Amino acid sequence: MPAKTKKKETLETWATDLLVEAHAIAPCPDHGYMRLRHSQHALDYARDLAEHRKFPGKKKKERVSAVEDVLDGLGDACPDCD
Ligand SMILES: [Zn+2]
Repeated sequence: MPAKTKKKETLETWATDLLVEAHAIAPCPDHGYMRLRHSQHALDYARDLAEHRKFPGKKKKERVSAVEDVLDGLGDACPDCD
């Protein structure tokens, strides 16, 4: 897993962290790439978190849409596995 460096949080990293916390996505243990987990419960929970958790300067709609954008950009498999 790549070393975590602390940098300024963007809406995208905020959304990614939120999805990990909700267990909607999880990193490949070998390579660290995020993968979809296909848990409807986790997705519902992530959307609920995005609606209620503040991000400076962003409205609820923008926060939920950032979460959807991260999900759209991910797949089921780690690109470095297989
Ligand atoms: Zn992998």
